[in-house]
Amino acid sequence: MLKQYRNFINGRFVESEKRFAGINPATGVRFADVHEATKDMVNDAVEAGHRAVRDWGATSVADRADMLYRIADEIDRRAADFLDAEVSDTGKPVSLASKLDIPRGAANFRVFADILKTAPLDSYRTDLPGGAQAINYAVRKPLGVVGIISPWNLPLLLFTWKIAPALACGNAVVAKPSEETPGTATLLAEVMQAVGLPSGVFNLVHGFGPNSAGEFITKHPRVNAITFTGESKTGTAIMHAAAEGVKPVSFELGGKNAAIIFADCDFDKTVDGMARAVFLNSGQVCLCSERIFIERPIYERFVKALAERAKQLKLGDPTDPATEMGPLISAAHRDKVLTYYAIARQEGAQFVVGGGTPRFDNHLDSGCWVEPTLIAGLPDDARCVREEIFGPIGHVTPFDSEAEVIQRANATPYGLAATIWTSDVNKAHRVAQSMNVGIAWVNTWFLRDLRTPFGGSGLSGVGREGGMHSLNFYSELTNVCIHVDAPDAFHD
Ligand code: NAD
Repeated sequence: MLKQYRNFINGRFVESEKRFAGINPATGVRFADVHEATKDMVNDAVEAGHRAVRDWGATSVADRADMLYRIADEIDRRAADFLDAEVSDTGKPVSLASKLDIPRGAANFRVFADILKTAPLDSYRTDLPGGAQAINYAVRKPLGVVGIISPWNLPLLLFTWKIAPALACGNAVVAKPSEETPGTATLLAEVMQAVGLPSGVFNLVHGFGPNSAGEFITKHPRVNAITFTGESKTGTAIMHAAAEGVKPVSFELGGKNAAIIFADCDFDKTVDGMARAVFLNSGQVCLCSERIFIERPIYERFVKALAERAKQLKLGDPTDPATEMGPLISAAHRDKVLTYYAIARQEGAQFVVGGGTPRFDNHLDSGCWVEPTLIAGLPDDARCVREEIFGPIGHVTPFDSEAEVIQRANATPYGLAATIWTSDVNKAHRVAQSMNVGIAWVNTWFLRDLRTPFGGSGLSGVGREGGMHSLNFYSELTNVCIHVDAPDAFHD
């Protein structure tokens, strides 16, 4: 029996005659039917959102925060179901999804409930001539119905990263997960129903981008704001759609992130950190390092050690707790990554490790696997060094000076993340601050405090989310300005 992933509109699960396949990328086996939302269903979801937002937007902060805590608790209670759904959709190892994706899904609701309860608002006293004053204070209001579109690489984590603050601010949402990963999103709808979130506040629609649910949301005249995570070129298409109606947009897009490894780094810790930064989630994290700059005195030794780690990575059945690396998300994405492996060869790259597809001699051979790969020897303007590949591949290259590496690391239209490894505290601050990115890590990677600004510059995004930045995006602020007359004494 195939699992059925349905839409969730106005508090009810809704079937569609149009269905597409949910495929487990570890095995290539179809295991689910996904019900693709029609344009009418998206319209129903948007209208349900508008009806619901009147009451939900007026709910007290304490009640909204309580609801968010209940959602988080219910995700925790059903963690095993979420884990199963995420692993089936993505092929990511349980060892990863159980530590990262599912707990972060719950944490996103808790964090934004906490932040909402303590969020300050601007208040200013303006002194006027003659002793009068104006008192200004800001009031936070919902935007209305927020359209949420998310990708497949960290499905529950990125979906809830937007849903939680949108709900916290009193909005209703019409949310579309990636067509590759409908599972945990559908479970989230069950959670919303179980905890009694009012009907219409959370609406889920399944489908694709163009001429499907994605475009129906982004082009919908009654959607008040759009928040999107995905590829930069999709961001361009959505920005065109959002221009009609001048809708606020928040975009978290692609990256071509640099890692900078100085000769004075803690060698072993850096090898550990970089093995994560290049290969975590099969390299399918927007923050992964695809350009690795290594200071020349340790270049050969470091590349050898990192290649050794790549060779040791245990690829295999994602449900086996010992598995460290899973497949890519789909056959189409595997083909894209393998095309880049071929381009690297044409460009004259040297393959330090990997470059092909693994063989298991079992049912996994029909999955979407590629080998963890390191390439070297390409100039900075090679396609594989400029374009986001989004697979378990990094290009290693030596550098000779701080100034040189800053210039080379910043020579990209993307600006998402950087990771810098050094034991010199002055150099750490200098280099981190000079990176043209949304987040620069030093001696770590993908370490997140959810209160901090997160996003990218250039092709990597528009705006910042996280903490107060999210609350500000998902709210309309009205400044109330009250004139206070001067006391009589001033008039005497
Ligand atoms: P994608 O852009 O192909 O798809 C993302 C979502 O957009 C999907 O739900 C898709 O159905 C929808 N979509 C596609 N075309 C659309 C259109 N014209 N209108 C409306 N919706 C449309 O991205 P992906 O392949 O799912 O994800 C991988 C990309 O996401 C990578 O580039 C990665 O770097 C990026 N990413 C960025 C961040 C970040 O925080 N900056 C995080 C994760 C992933």
